[in-house]
Amino acid sequence: MGSNYNNYNNDPNRQRPRKRVSKKTLRRRQLGALCVIAFLVLLLIILMAKACSKDSSDKGGDTKPTDVTTTTTATTTAQFATEATTTTTTTTKTAGANDSGFKLDKYSVFLEVGGQGICYVQQYPEGSSEPDEVWTSSDPKIATVDMYGHITGVSGGECYVTLSSKKDPSKEVTIKVTVAGPVNTANNNNTANSDDPAKKDDKNETPEPQQLAEAPAPSKINGDGYHYEGDVLIVNKTYTIPASYYPGGLDPTCYTWFTKLQQGAAKDGLNIYCSSGFRSYAEQEAIYNSNVAKDGKEKTDTYSARPGNSEHQTGLAIDVNIISDAFIGTPEAKWIEDHCWEYGFILRYPKGKQDITGYKYEPWHIRYVGSDMSKKIHDRGGITLEEYFGLTSKYPD
Ligand SMILES: [Zn+2]
Repeated sequence: MGSNYNNYNNDPNRQRPRKRVSKKTLRRRQLGALCVIAFLVLLLIILMAKACSKDSSDKGGDTKPTDVTTTTTATTTAQFATEATTTTTTTTKTAGANDSGFKLDKYSVFLEVGGQGICYVQQYPEGSSEPDEVWTSSDPKIATVDMYGHITGVSGGECYVTLSSKKDPSKEVTIKVTVAGPVNTANNNNTANSDDPAKKDDKNETPEPQQLAEAPAPSKINGDGYHYEGDVLIVNKTYTIPASYYPGGLDPTCYTWFTKLQQGAAKDGLNIYCSSGFRSYAEQEAIYNSNVAKDGKEKTDTYSARPGNSEHQTGLAIDVNIISDAFIGTPEAKWIEDHCWEYGFILRYPKGKQDITGYKYEPWHIRYVGSDMSKKIHDRGGITLEEYFGLTSKYPD
């Protein structure tokens, strides 16, 4: 019986009558299948929509932004003036405002290389205040940020600056930073160095300073609110620079030679980066006033320039790496002291010269003067500009 039953089932003809009967059923089944497919497609659409909205709301901490506007900006860095505004409006939506308790005046910053920007904190999380601010940059090769939230463009590209609270590190807010300008090759070379055969042989290529770095051409003349000694623009406590002077970033020659300096340091295994470059009169005013509020005028005058007396406003001065006494004695500080002259820079506020320069020792602050001058100053044992030209550096009051 078993075998008969099997044979009956295996008979190919057995299927035929079924088909005929199921025309109606078939139609029903087709309809059912269609319904299932439609349902699945709908489900897929819903899931995709959800994934998209999550993606954009998560963007604050993302280091690889995907939105179109900013990508476009990065590739067309030359046209920053007009693009900056569009970038600001579009990225504000994605990067930034959240329920951490921090409220900033803006959540995106657009800078040139060497330029500086700041986001003002309008509101802190409960229990936190200004001294609890912790500022970090997702990529200091693109932009750095100091302990006050001053953001400085270092190299073309995009990165994020995060403000968190020392009291409660879970509370944080993110700012998108777009830097327009040349991409810094110094750091990239650093990693690519080993497999570049051309790089291996040029170890002794210490530049002949006198034929390389050019002195920046004076753009103004004395008596116009500027003071030049030869080609060297002097800004110290005696000599001011007009509030209206706004190069908007580092002097191009200064910037070029700074990147060469960085490459030189990289060859010695050191990472030198710009922590603070150009500062406008208004930015310096804000910094000085906040320092005075904290330390009083007398102490502030030993380390922070009054607005109009800051060399940073010239676009010819750079604070490298760590802007504090923690930098003293580091290999990078030593390297800067020994080698910056080879690239047309001088250490502007050397050790033991406070009475002459008016500022305490700042191993991080270098000033571009061109290689002619930097060599002369180096040959005379690293004297100051004030000594070289016989100038004073004293506030009138
Ligand atoms: Zn400085």
